[in-house]
Amino acid sequence: MLRFQNGKDFLNKQTLTLPINQFRYGQIIFPCHLGIISIGNVSTSMLNKLRFYLDQTFDSFFFDIQFIEDTKLHPDTFELKVKEEHNLLNKSSEKVLLQPTNKFYEIIVDKKFKYNFDIGLGLTNLPIYSSSNENLLFLFGEAHIKHMCAIVSTHNLIDLFNLEDFKLKKIERRIYKEAVHEIGHLILDCGHCLNDYCVMRFSKNIKEIDRKSIYLCEKCKLKLEKVRARDNF
Ligand SMILES: [Zn+2]
Ligand SMILES: [Zn+2]
Repeated sequence: MLRFQNGKDFLNKQTLTLPINQFRYGQIIFPCHLGIISIGNVSTSMLNKLRFYLDQTFDSFFFDIQFIEDTKLHPDTFELKVKEEHNLLNKSSEKVLLQPTNKFYEIIVDKKFKYNFDIGLGLTNLPIYSSSNENLLFLFGEAHIKHMCAIVSTHNLIDLFNLEDFKLKKIERRIYKEAVHEIGHLILDCGHCLNDYCVMRFSKNIKEIDRKSIYLCEKCKLKLEKVRARDNF
């Protein structure tokens, strides 16, 4: 589920010093540099297409989109704070191990500083739960405004009980929508949109992701233009 998380410091063990010129508090000056980091086993064949959709939706908001592939969760921390749960979304009787989102944020923030990204988006095949609200299990994705990073998990974007779902294009499209959605949170700094077809609509299941488009509605586009006017580009 695409929960919008704001104002909580998941990374309280780390004190992050942000370069003053580049950042206002919790805010980036656009256009900026986006890094996409694949964590775990993520097919990288779709990355160029993802870049295309991000460019299409957030036209000229990124002067560069860079991919960092094959990042892994450290084996020492893999078992830390995992939750073993039944996956009700997939109606499966088997339990799955869910990873807390802050593990991913730590990796993404680290890469952000290493490669000078302003925004970091992680893509993972691992199932995730929210570190800020441990009742939010099996998320599709989450954004962390303060650290300007987001994570999208592909784990629940495949409906194992629907054969149609094994069509890769369909699954990829969901991943693109979720990635655009989380980046939308980071740029627009806003909650969810009520327009059924807007990519900023909150989706509680795959069906709802399939129903919405990959694009911003007119109202959200206006918000985007306000950010563009603010940063004068
Ligand atoms: Zn959301
Ligand atoms: Zn909208």
